[in-house]
Amino acid sequence: MRTIRRHRSATGTELLLGRCNRLRMSRVRMLLVCLCGMLAMALTLGFYLSSNDTSDDNDSIHMDDNIQFRVPDLIRDKLTHNPRRSTVAQIKRLVGQVNSGRLWYSLLRPILVERLPGTRGSRRVREHIYSHLEFLSAGWSLEVDSFNSATPKGLITFSNLLAVLDPSAPRRLLLACHYDSKAMPPASQTPDGPLRRFLGASDAAVPCAMILELVTALDVHLKVLKQQKSQVTVQLVFFDGNEAFEQPSPSDSLYGSRYLADQMSRTPHPPGAEHTTLLNALDLFVLLDLIGAPDPMFVNHFDNTVRWFDELVYAERRLHKLGLLSSHPREVSYFRKDLNLGPVEDDHVPFLQQGVPVLHMITTPFPSFMHTLEDTMEHIHSQTIENLTKVLVVFLAEYIGL
Ligand SMILES: [Zn+2]
Repeated sequence: MRTIRRHRSATGTELLLGRCNRLRMSRVRMLLVCLCGMLAMALTLGFYLSSNDTSDDNDSIHMDDNIQFRVPDLIRDKLTHNPRRSTVAQIKRLVGQVNSGRLWYSLLRPILVERLPGTRGSRRVREHIYSHLEFLSAGWSLEVDSFNSATPKGLITFSNLLAVLDPSAPRRLLLACHYDSKAMPPASQTPDGPLRRFLGASDAAVPCAMILELVTALDVHLKVLKQQKSQVTVQLVFFDGNEAFEQPSPSDSLYGSRYLADQMSRTPHPPGAEHTTLLNALDLFVLLDLIGAPDPMFVNHFDNTVRWFDELVYAERRLHKLGLLSSHPREVSYFRKDLNLGPVEDDHVPFLQQGVPVLHMITTPFPSFMHTLEDTMEHIHSQTIENLTKVLVVFLAEYIGL
């Protein structure tokens, strides 16, 4: 027992000593572990701090990289952009929102007055367009951009009306028309009859009304598009001063479009960008003009936008097959790829000259009543403009992926 006790005692002492040693060892180990941990933390912190020390450089490199990338992105993205196909049900739902009565009475009629630049008629039409867009739920950013320009009639004040759905979006699809009317001497049909003035129904009251109907029909969808912060937004431009006061020339015509193209070429986009401007943001410049006569024909004018002209052909064909167009006897009646009539001078020219891709939707040959007092509502074919608005609804919806 003693042996056992001694042994126990001896063993206990040894154990006690061993425990003490182990305790000391474990404290040393703990100390070492703590030191190692602190060392590791210090190294990590040091590495982190040293990373942060150079983070400005790194960030600037990344930012530079981004800026470097933004330039080709604006270009590359527009070139590689593809429409998002709508289903038959979606197409029916979208074009079902086109309201020909609203287009004809609420939107077109108030534009059918003489509206020479700088006059009360011009201001009233501008207010009509502005108040309609302001009323929509999509939340357009509206701007009246006025400027003075020398003309053969002296200094005239012109006013472009601009509407952008989401000004912060990187890219834009631009839809444009001109709302001014041509200065022409009034005349009366009978010697003592009332004076008739040039109203320019097809030139270009109808295109302006079509654009208004287009964004009205798609209002709810455009509101959602804006909320989703889409990469591509929509810009509308209602140009002033398209018409010449005398014979059209580079200095006497396209007052509004020349001014806007110049303004956009001077506006950095995104804000603060050094190498890109609002012109680079334009995916496509879609210009509507001389629309409203029955049986119109539209041809492609530019090779670099032929695939977007094809989209118009395809939209017309699909709507015809679905029975959604009226007074439309043939599958492809309006948009003709088999003809090439050459370019036409219009508001797209100042943008085209700066490299903006253009889709020019202008009736060719021109309507027989162009630049005559007969360009009135009586010569406008309501089913045609309803059909063309439906084609544009499909085109726009698929372009921006509504
Ligand atoms: Zn004209």
